[in-house]
Amino acid sequence: MSAARDVILPGATLGVLGGGQLGRMFVHAAQALGYGTAVLDADAQSPAGCISHHHIRTGYEDAGGLSELARRCAAVTTEFENVPAGALDTLAASLPVSPAGRCVAIAQDRAAEKAHFVRCGVPVAPHAVIETPEQLAAVSADLLPGILKTARLGYDGKGQARVQTAAELAAAWDALGRVPCVLEKMLPLAHECSVIVARGRDGAIVHLPVQRNLHRDGILAVTEVYEGNLPPAQVRQALTAAQSVAQGLDYVGVLCVEFFVLQDGSLVVNEMAPRPHNSGHYSQNACDVSQFELQVRCMTGLPLVPPRQHSAAIMLNLLGDLWFPPGAADQTTPAWDKVLALPGAHLHLYGKTQAKPGRKMGHLNITAATPEAARATALQAAAILG
Ligand code: ADP
Ligand code: MG
Repeated sequence: MSAARDVILPGATLGVLGGGQLGRMFVHAAQALGYGTAVLDADAQSPAGCISHHHIRTGYEDAGGLSELARRCAAVTTEFENVPAGALDTLAASLPVSPAGRCVAIAQDRAAEKAHFVRCGVPVAPHAVIETPEQLAAVSADLLPGILKTARLGYDGKGQARVQTAAELAAAWDALGRVPCVLEKMLPLAHECSVIVARGRDGAIVHLPVQRNLHRDGILAVTEVYEGNLPPAQVRQALTAAQSVAQGLDYVGVLCVEFFVLQDGSLVVNEMAPRPHNSGHYSQNACDVSQFELQVRCMTGLPLVPPRQHSAAIMLNLLGDLWFPPGAADQTTPAWDKVLALPGAHLHLYGKTQAKPGRKMGHLNITAATPEAARATALQAAAILG
């Protein structure tokens, strides 16, 4: 009885902190279900703000902005893990907020995140936390060669340095401004995978199929999801680990857990994102429920039905580099008409007018009846885009 009353039905307004592409696709999913939306982001041109019913143009810690968001909305979520956890806590005093500030705070800090994975009994890369010169001096030679990563605010391979020796490690820590870091042993990767889980307020948990990911220059380039993309034992391990990570946080919302698969076939958890993730975008066209609809369902208390994948899928990220083909003097528009002539090609652009190398401008989901057909179409799309 009370559980039913707690459900926030379509017609209500849902809020999101952050106006990037993940917020934009959340807004699309919420509006498709008949919700109103409010986006809080200081940027007047933000991809989500410019399509939302309401766009509150303030910073995340602006008391006026947060109180307007709370006044307009029945529930709030985030699309950005670096939103100050205190902003989520402030909002949580007056309305349901998912995920909780304490979960986002853990995901914001690689050291806290790793400690959480260890608590859950999930394997992590051998690592050391470096916050002081003493900790730097005490680093075991076993961790080299390694990757030094800032504990906070790293993304798409930024805030990282690969180091071979203790001297390089010391120089890299200096170059990163001696901020708190985690040094991870460089592992022999066979490939990378990730899984999206969605956990409701009642603890019910569903997941999307496990994604196989290819990164280029530290940025996700391609995600492949179909029967046989990964050995069944790896799929089972990834799902079990992701569920323990979500349960261990008493998490409510959509959570992505990323893994390394080592050359010996073993699985190591890399990091988590307390929100929908780039590697889950294929679900928009290949599954009957997308990761963004799952986000809406989690925050409103709507039922979490297990998602079903109906098509083989390949997602290609569209970076700003595509807008600057070799020889072009200025920014050009890629040949979307030719791409959209391919059967099963679904184009998602984020409405960013200014392309920059490495900037995520959109993605292309390719769906097909078989993995072979999806791969053939992906190759054609790549050839068109150059
Ligand atoms: P980001 O937050 O930028 O995504 P990640 O920790 O996921 O940072 O690192 C980015 C990429 O660098 C990974 O996807 C992986 O390809 C590579 N990488 C990171 N850590 C390691 C490691 N310990 N061993 C080998 N490769 C790694
Ligand atoms: Mg990563």
